[in-house]
Amino acid sequence: MNSPARAVTMDKLTSLCKRRGFVYPSSEIYGGIASCWDYGPLGIELKRNITEAWWRDNITARDDMVGLDSSILMHPKVWEASGHIEGFTDPLVDCKKCKQRFRADQLEGDVCPACGGELTESRQFNLMFRTFMGPVEDSASTVYLRPETAQGIFVNFQNALNSSRMKIPFGVGQIGKSFRNEITPGNFLFRTREFEQMELEFFVKPGEDEKWHQYWKQERFDWYLRYGINRERLRLREHGSDELAHYAKGCADIEYEFPFGWSELEGIANRADFDLGQHKKVSGKDLSYFDEENRERFIPYVIEPSAGVGRPLLAFLVDAYDEDVVDGDERVVLRLDRRLAPVKVAIFPLLRKAGQPEKAHAVRDLLKHHFAVTYDQAGAIGRRYRRQDEIGTPYCITVDHQTMDDDTITLRDRDSMEQLRLPIDRLVEEIRTRLAAPTAAAGG
Ligand code: ATP
Repeated sequence: MNSPARAVTMDKLTSLCKRRGFVYPSSEIYGGIASCWDYGPLGIELKRNITEAWWRDNITARDDMVGLDSSILMHPKVWEASGHIEGFTDPLVDCKKCKQRFRADQLEGDVCPACGGELTESRQFNLMFRTFMGPVEDSASTVYLRPETAQGIFVNFQNALNSSRMKIPFGVGQIGKSFRNEITPGNFLFRTREFEQMELEFFVKPGEDEKWHQYWKQERFDWYLRYGINRERLRLREHGSDELAHYAKGCADIEYEFPFGWSELEGIANRADFDLGQHKKVSGKDLSYFDEENRERFIPYVIEPSAGVGRPLLAFLVDAYDEDVVDGDERVVLRLDRRLAPVKVAIFPLLRKAGQPEKAHAVRDLLKHHFAVTYDQAGAIGRRYRRQDEIGTPYCITVDHQTMDDDTITLRDRDSMEQLRLPIDRLVEEIRTRLAAPTAAAGG
């Protein structure tokens, strides 16, 4: 597929993220720690907007979904039943010369990509982090940091069903941290060892699973488009039968074309009755469902749309990044969907005198209970616009001499750069309406 050329590179993006407070290397004053990142003041707002959009669209705005927040540490039997202790592995090779480790399935040749040295035979490496529960460090107290949030949903299937009185088809969703001791993390937020997931487990009657699998592939694909991802950089890739995980009957990945190539944002799997069946077997508890209408009992099949948070967040940033020229000045602009933008409105006094800062503070106080706002009075107005464009702020409001006479301000739009004169008392309504409208496709 031929995609349009774009300005973004991973270097430009990581530097913008650091400089403006989206993402910092973790423990940076100690030299950082491989593949761990911290979300700064703007990053956390963007992340919250993404997870809240996901939660609203997939849980609260639907009649057939409920939410859950299960614990990270779970009974070790969970991972035995789910197959993770046995099978959650990647093939690992060591370089005999420089001692670096690599994932065998990601290597192109049969020598070390770092130094050309000879590699060991590959062996299976389990990706689960292990720790000990309580003061005794022995095999009986070994517990795992969960490598996916999904199992917390399966072990709560009966609880969720009984307490919510849902009927099949219905789903349970969860957002939370997961951990994988990846052999080769990298590409910024793309592959980390600690990450957040947004997972849905949608329980259906066996035989209706294919239909629901199709439904969720379409639904989740469209979700990324709805929040502004460029259609040409998004694709759905069906797994070949040799790629399927041990639990899956079918799987498709939603992939985005990052500067480092097409890579997975989300997997949508048909897990059949594997998980509930396994937990029923290992726990001895009845995890079946009784269909009152047809008087039949069965183990539900499950369709799982499983996304990370960091990968979609990175895709939204990459896709939004654009450079253009305004009045002879180059600017960087993040054309984020307005609903995702970390700051919605920036408020500037044109001058730092004549009562304008006080008036601008009053406008900020009016808006701050409705929207994420910021105030800036430093430097020339053009520079202040550039600073907001670079973090994707959709609207800038300027208080000037006319404001002092008639209580109107100018509202400037990030994308069209149109400036509109509006009365202060109409601002909340006006901005609310504008924020709800979809943003035109980003530059990416
Ligand atoms: P990959 O093949 O890239 O390792 P996966 O197929 O193992 O990914 P899943 O098990 O399907 O990933 O996990 C679901 C989602 O969780 C992924 O689509 C991704 O968004 C996110 N995810 C998985 N592993 C990581 C990681 N190491 N860092 C960041 N996000 C991750």
